[in-house]
Amino acid sequence: RPPGEPLLAVRGLSRSFGGLTAVDDASMVVREGTITALIGPNGSGKTTLFNLVTGGLQPDKGEIWFDGRRIDRLPPWTRGHLGLGRTYQVTRLFKEMTVRENVVAPLPDGRWRTMLADAVRGHEAERAKELLDLVGLGGMAHQKAGSLSYGQQKLVELAQVLMLEPKLILLDEPAGGVNPSLLDRLVEVIRDVNARGVTFLVVEHNIPLVSELCDPVIVFSAGSPLAEGPPDRIRRDPQVLDAYLGV
Ligand code: ADP
Repeated sequence: RPPGEPLLAVRGLSRSFGGLTAVDDASMVVREGTITALIGPNGSGKTTLFNLVTGGLQPDKGEIWFDGRRIDRLPPWTRGHLGLGRTYQVTRLFKEMTVRENVVAPLPDGRWRTMLADAVRGHEAERAKELLDLVGLGGMAHQKAGSLSYGQQKLVELAQVLMLEPKLILLDEPAGGVNPSLLDRLVEVIRDVNARGVTFLVVEHNIPLVSELCDPVIVFSAGSPLAEGPPDRIRRDPQVLDAYLGV
């Protein structure tokens, strides 16, 4: 498949909670090789869309296609197995386990290792080391995850997701709560991982960071995409300014 083909495609996707339609007939694609941003006012449906794509929520209607397959009826772990990874707005590390144990903990079927992760050897151990070096935390492998700064924990979570060799990673507010001194590293790491062939869809409120990192930017408003384009065009789009100021 040539680069730039749709890796994720959402068609006519809807999901309501009671009388409230959180995602409303949304259609969009994420092209292979991109770092695509998903921005929009609070309550516009971004998190709901993430949960529909990863399988934590079921759609009321519509289709989700990933890497040439329809995935909206598949359980979350099968989607993970196909190459869909995500991080969370608030990190979900095992705080009492070491950084390295956290990175090797996830299993491809969606479960977690119950044996102490020190038992992990060979290819997986090497990959964990490589990934911790990649996110710049090789020297902290044996510290408890809970002792790291919040931004460092987010980088550990990224290494953890990368352990399963995803094709697409959904990042939920990667910069949220991260110390400004770590933001440059975060951007660098995401770019680096992207250069190795991983596609990203990023929900992020830090617009300067989005402009620096992402292309294209998709603007969500009231449950569906309102505009899409390169960051400099999106920032000047009157419709987009309206959507933000109108809330
Ligand atoms: P965003 O991530 O863009 O801030 P969300 O997807 O979190 O938007 O929310 C979209 C709308 O759906 C909001 O009005 C929110 O209150 C509502 N919503 C989200 N999840 C639930 C839920 N589990 N139950 C009821 N309402 C929900």
